[in-house]
Amino acid sequence: EFSEVSIKDINQIAKSSFPLCMRHLFEKLREDHHLKHGGRMQLGLFLKGVGLKLEDALAFWKAEFSQKVGAERFDKEYAYSIRHNYGREGKRTDYTPYSCQKIISSTPGVGDHHGCPYRHFSEENLRAALCRMGVNSGAMEDVMEKVRNRHYQLACTITFEAIHGSSYDAGINHPNQYFTDSQKILK
Ligand code: SF4
Repeated sequence: EFSEVSIKDINQIAKSSFPLCMRHLFEKLREDHHLKHGGRMQLGLFLKGVGLKLEDALAFWKAEFSQKVGAERFDKEYAYSIRHNYGREGKRTDYTPYSCQKIISSTPGVGDHHGCPYRHFSEENLRAALCRMGVNSGAMEDVMEKVRNRHYQLACTITFEAIHGSSYDAGINHPNQYFTDSQKILK
């Protein structure tokens, strides 16, 4: 069940199989070479769940953050929390990736990119993001209706179905479930 993913595959799997919450964080990280704490936790634990090993995770985050804060500051200020997520520091808890419920109930502030886009994006931004994902206009309206009724996970499920061209009766409860089932369909 637990498969490994290497850094060179990340761009491709992000495009094909990340749910919108993680695509957004991933794109922002690539763009800004930085993410605030909430985003680092949400994306970092998701990537761990996807199968990115600790050494690869460190290399991945360092490659981005170095461009913004420099390699030295990365090693001093950010590497610890990544090792911490993998249970190699502090209480050595092996932290698990966040569920949809946890992400949806988070409260991102200004400059934060974590959270659930179905809940936290403006309608305009959500439509644009779904359009970039390749959601057609029929599915788009179904998604927006679910969002208006605060059924965010159903909105995500409809997105999954539209992108993969297959029905998905289980419903999305977890970003890593979205990823795993997407990979199953695409392979
Ligand atoms: Fe991410 Fe879950 Fe929101 Fe989908 S419903 S975007 S998987 S938090």
